[in-house]
Amino acid sequence: MKNIILLAPPAAGKGTQALLIKELYSIPHISTGDLLRNAVNENNKYSEVIKELQNKGELVTDDIVLDLLKMRLKNDDCNNGYILDGFPRNVEQAKAYERMLDSLGKELGKVILLDIEECEAKKRIVGRISCPNCGSVYNDMEPSMMPKEKGICDKCSNALVKRADDNEKVFNKRFKTYLEKTKPLIDYYEKKGNLYHVDSSTNKEYTFKQIKEILSND
Ligand code: AMP
Repeated sequence: MKNIILLAPPAAGKGTQALLIKELYSIPHISTGDLLRNAVNENNKYSEVIKELQNKGELVTDDIVLDLLKMRLKNDDCNNGYILDGFPRNVEQAKAYERMLDSLGKELGKVILLDIEECEAKKRIVGRISCPNCGSVYNDMEPSMMPKEKGICDKCSNALVKRADDNEKVFNKRFKTYLEKTKPLIDYYEKKGNLYHVDSSTNKEYTFKQIKEILSND
């Protein structure tokens, strides 16, 4: 069983690496950002509050995120493992997640930290575009990550979109939130002995090579 947490500052390549892991091991990629964006589109009682917090780069309240995540983890496709992208975002969520795992009879697994400097992450986020259909991520400012045809997904030919929160102002806010709330998780998981460091500052192939080595003996 491969239960994986990807821990990283914004734009470190979590989404890209999650898709590569998903393809290699056939386990689902669960992005809490996507779960929340889907909840907004479903227009339920949380929609307005989620939309407002996401567009400001602030964290959505723990109870909403935990509720959506628990429902998702109960699906049978999570039985052989899954990749968590964007969760936990703070120590309270990490503790609540462990209680949730106990109640679901699941294990914590491995926590993979994607290391990247703030300036490199910022450059990536300003150019980021993605496919709403298959989840592929591109960057129109980074030659090695541009789609073959401008604005069109290489894999499924869908039109690519830019997220409303992928701009410099929101990035600065999200990075500050990361430093204050999420970075303490590095210490938290290091002490538990579950943390694995990966250098994510060069290219996606090298990052993935390191991840495969970490996961190969599971
Ligand atoms: P992401 O797609 O992971 O970059 O998340 C986009 C936004 O969704 C974040 O800036 C938060 O507003 C919200 N979000 C995603 N995951 C969480 C989480 N685990 N806890 C709270 N808010 C979250």
